[in-house]
Amino acid sequence: MKKPTFSAALPSKDREYPRYQAYSLHNFRKIPQLKRLSEEQIFDIEVVGNVFPFKTNNYVVDELINWDEVPHDPIFVLTFPQKEMLQPHHYREMAKILRSGADPEKINRAANRIRAQLNPHPAGQMEHNVPELEGRKLTGIQHKYRETVLFFPNQGQTCHAYCTFCFRWPQFVGIDEWKFAMKETDLLVEYLRRHPEASDVLFTGGDPLIMSPRLLAGYLEALLEADLPNLQNIRLGTKALGYWPYKFFADPGAEELLALFEKVARSGKHLAIMAHFSHYRELSTPAVRKAIRKIKQTGAEIRTQSPVLRHINADAQTWAKMWKEQVRLGCIPYYMFVVRDTGAQHYFGVPLVEAWHIFRKAYQMVSGISRTARGPSMSCGPGKVQVLGVSEVNEEKVMVLRMLQGRNPAWVNRPFFAQYDPEAIWLDDLQPAFGKERFFFEEEFPLPRARKFRHGAASLKSAEAAKTLS
Ligand SMILES: *Cc1c(COP(=O)(O)O)cnc(C)c1O
Ligand code: SF4
Repeated sequence: MKKPTFSAALPSKDREYPRYQAYSLHNFRKIPQLKRLSEEQIFDIEVVGNVFPFKTNNYVVDELINWDEVPHDPIFVLTFPQKEMLQPHHYREMAKILRSGADPEKINRAANRIRAQLNPHPAGQMEHNVPELEGRKLTGIQHKYRETVLFFPNQGQTCHAYCTFCFRWPQFVGIDEWKFAMKETDLLVEYLRRHPEASDVLFTGGDPLIMSPRLLAGYLEALLEADLPNLQNIRLGTKALGYWPYKFFADPGAEELLALFEKVARSGKHLAIMAHFSHYRELSTPAVRKAIRKIKQTGAEIRTQSPVLRHINADAQTWAKMWKEQVRLGCIPYYMFVVRDTGAQHYFGVPLVEAWHIFRKAYQMVSGISRTARGPSMSCGPGKVQVLGVSEVNEEKVMVLRMLQGRNPAWVNRPFFAQYDPEAIWLDDLQPAFGKERFFFEEEFPLPRARKFRHGAASLKSAEAAKTLS
């Protein structure tokens, strides 16, 4: 790989590390490396970037992307909008509007029309799982699985760069108006106090580590001071190690951040950094390695996760290399996800059977201590469903599945069977095996089976959403 240049964003030569510089639709043409792209390629970015969120930064551009491999470079695909992410007719619609020089309002209306057809709210995210406290809806909390409470701090609703596959894309383009977000720490503490079954709180977003260390300290210290006996694990879900590792040792407040980690770890709670890494390239720079070292020195643990993504990491070698590298650096592989049924799933999606082959082959290539990863796993309505594999029972070819997490805790770890379907990409594409009509959990939680979304047609729900958006 090329040596980092820091050319784009370093205003002065007296700074050892680059200063964060975000690039999005309004300024990405200033990225020096873009000279390597044709006008047509740049226009494609603009077309797709008007529908899906687009943000990258100088670390991603200067240190992660190998511009010799663009447009096929995995990190380029990970952060720059790709033409094929839109269905051809949506692409044509948006391209035509941009070429006509339409005003921003008209562009936005067209964008919302297209977005509404891309299943912006999969798995009932918005309706289910929002708990209440004395009749008040806690919109910043999701409590779906008994042990783990998700918390969406108000100031953590963006990221250092955006992944092109991200299922949170509706909140980044403003459809959701940060509906999840919440700032009241007191309510979180009170909620955890009243739910002694919850042992974990997982800060998520966006990226909670986009917050200033001082703000984050406000949340974490409140949790420590509350002295909740049930709270064992505090997790921070973040892509900062992948997209802006300078956060941990060079940015203003880096020392404060590490001191905060140390304080949590010393308090007797387990602090887990849940790091998203989608490719081993993200583990290769001096900056990320230094950040990992610094975090580990505080006593915090780093666990890693990513979806399996076409055009980025959809092969076993990439996963095996990534897991090995993570373990060597002291991180613990945790989940391999399957991309969910939203946005550009047709572009990034990998069928369940193929994802299982990738998982299995990668698993075979690494030693036992790298086999802490579980997957491939779908986060769907009833729970996190893992594809255990393909097998044959009484001459019927079946897929064996189990829940790693369940809306009903009694569902967890109970194997179940679906008809073999090499094209299925999501749980509701699957049919129960052995002539059964429903999966065992469907008495409580029926699946919406008439879904047409993966062929690009709008679902009923999305059509309704389209009405309210346009
Ligand atoms: C994945 C997930 C969690 C965390 O589950 P663990 O198995 O504890 O890692 C919690 N809530 C939701 C909604 C999730 O999707
Ligand atoms: S870092 Fe996570 S939340 Fe942010 S864009 Fe990527 S996948 Fe989405």
